Order: sequence, then structure tokens, then C-alpha cells
Amino acid sequence: MAPGELLIEVETLNIDSASMRQLEQACDGDAARVGEEIAEIVRKRGKMQNPVTGSGGMLLGRVQSTGDVLGERFGIRDGDRVATLVSLTLTPLHLQSVRAVDLTRHQVDVDGTAVVFPSGCVTRLPDDLPETVALALLDVAGAAPQVLRLARPGGSVCVLGAGGKSGLLCAAAARETVGADGVVVGVEAFDAAADAARRVGACDAVVVADAADPVAVVEAASAHGPSSGFDLVVSCVNAPGAEMGAILLARDRGCVYFFSMATSFSRAALGAEGVTRDVDLMIGNGFCADHAEQTLALYRRDAALRAELESRFV
Ligand code: NAP
Repeated sequence: MAPGELLIEVETLNIDSASMRQLEQACDGDAARVGEEIAEIVRKRGKMQNPVTGSGGMLLGRVQSTGDVLGERFGIRDGDRVATLVSLTLTPLHLQSVRAVDLTRHQVDVDGTAVVFPSGCVTRLPDDLPETVALALLDVAGAAPQVLRLARPGGSVCVLGAGGKSGLLCAAAARETVGADGVVVGVEAFDAAADAARRVGACDAVVVADAADPVAVVEAASAHGPSSGFDLVVSCVNAPGAEMGAILLARDRGCVYFFSMATSFSRAALGAEGVTRDVDLMIGNGFCADHAEQTLALYRRDAALRAELESRFV
């Protein structure tokens, strides 16, 4: 380990949703096999880089040594419990054991050690939230703050995967920004997740449609939005194939924000060209300034969002 690097005794990995979905499918829903697969990926690559999705997640653990850079930069000390805010795909990791795999929460209890580079990012776990909730929120901390930046008062936003954790946060951020004069529409493939989005109440309408079926999703969501298309479309699905539906839902000169790691960025770019849509395509950068604080603040001030996520993660 170099002097500027931070050493963490790792307790839990939060596997990103696209990666966990792929692992679960490949292992026929068998949690023990998913655990073995994760251990094997980390053994071979020295990091949790899913070779199929190219995505990772983040981790929770206790600081063994802050090094001489990150402790001061993030206000943390040896012994603090922290979450990493850089992807597991680029976090050196050694696992001694995988203790438990929670396929629903996408959280995996392990014994291991990780290194964070001086250019990385960590945050101390908030002491007012259950750790499982904090981990879930911090995993997708990059999502909602970008929506707060991109949405406009009175504007229109469509969220694909609006009942998932980043989707709920993005819909809440959209509602706050567009206000009562704007419109927020959610899309989910199945009733259970659509009902969850409805319970939280950020969307004016939540429709059930497969985001991977462009014709179906445009028909279902457009009925509740402006006839010219949405100003902003956010893709928070964890499954492939949502690129064209998202692009076709956006208005001319609108923006499509692909937070989903199941996105094929070549399919999005070439698809937009193929259907001659002049829209801005944004890759979901997992980082933006103060993203962890903004996401936790959004969660704390929205009682319905809190109730929904607590029911899933506590
Ligand atoms: P999540 O909680 O699993 O939510 C995904 C939602 O999408 C679920 O409600 C799911 O419904 C829904 N969905 C799946 N396929 C769909 C389809 N064809 N049509 C409509 N809805 C569909 O996932 P998350 O944690 O919010 O993560 C969302 C995405 O962001 C993932 O791809 C994840 O890898 C990515 N991510 C990106 C970053 C980044 O830095 N950009 C960081 C973390 C995560 P069901 O539950 O019914 O299947």
C-alpha cells in the first residue's frame, strides 16, 4: 500500500443492481452460487468487476488506516465506519470469505480488505440511518442530484424504473424541481414496483410497460406527458434494452440521462442517430459534488420515500 492510500476492513459489498441481476440469472437464483461467483471474480481480477455488465457497486467497512491524504480530505479517522463512493470495479479488493448473500437487497456480507486511492472518495456512515439503508442510498448517490440539476421548474420528466431505489430518488428529485406546474411520469415493468412508486407519490402517473419495448413504453408514458415529448428522461432500469424507449420519449432538444449501467452507450448513440432525434444523451456519472449529502438530505425530507426504502432495507 502506498502512503496516500486508505485501507478498509470490508464488511459488506453492495453489488450494483445490473450486476446482481445478471449474476442471479446466471446462477439460477441460487444465493450460494452467486457468492461463489463473486469470490471467483474478485480472486481473478483483484476487484469486483462483473465481466458481463462491466459494473461493480460499492462497499461498507471500517477504516484500518486513513493514509496521509484521504483522512484529512474526508474528515475520517482510523476506526470510522465508512462507505466508498467510487466503484468496486476500480477498488482493489481481497476477500477472505463471503458470509451471506442477500439477493433482494443486493448486499453481500464478507470478510475482506480494500484499498481506496488518494483520488477516490469515501464518506463516514451517517449515524441517524440504519447502515443497510445508508448503503443502499449511497450506492446510487449520483442519480438524484443530477436530476436536481437537469430538471426545470414547470418542466416534464419521465423516469424509467421509477419503483427501484434510484428511480424513487430521481422521481422525488424531479417532483421537487418541476413543482406543482410540472409533470413527472414513472414507468415500471410490473405492478409491484409500479405500486411502490405510486405509494411514494412523486409521480403524477405511474404506467406499467416494458422499457425494453419502445413502442409500448412510448404509448403508455406519452399519454400522461406533453405531446411534444418529455424535457428529461431518466433511465434507472437494471435490465438491458431501454435505450430506444428513453430516446423516443424525449422532446426535440430534450435530454436523456442514462443512469442505468445496463445501458449500451453505443446502442443509445447510434439509435438516436438512426431515428434522427436531436437529444442530449448523458452518461450517468456516479459522482457529482456533494452527491452523498444531497441524496441523504432528499431521503430525510421525504417521509413517503423514507417509509418505502425502510420497508425494503431495514
Ligand atoms: P433497482 O432498485 O433494482 O431498480 C431497477 C428498477 O427497474 C426495478 O424497479 C425494476 O423492476 C425496473 N425494471 C427492470 N427492467 C425494467 C423494464 N424492462 N421496464 C421497466 N422497468 C424495469 O436498481 P437501482 O439500484 O436503482 O439501479 C438502477 C440502475 O442504475 C442499475 O442499472 C444500476 O446498475 C445502475 N447504477 C448506476 C450507477 C452509476 O454510477 N451510474 C451507480 C449505481 C447503480 P423489477 O424490480 O420489477 O424488476
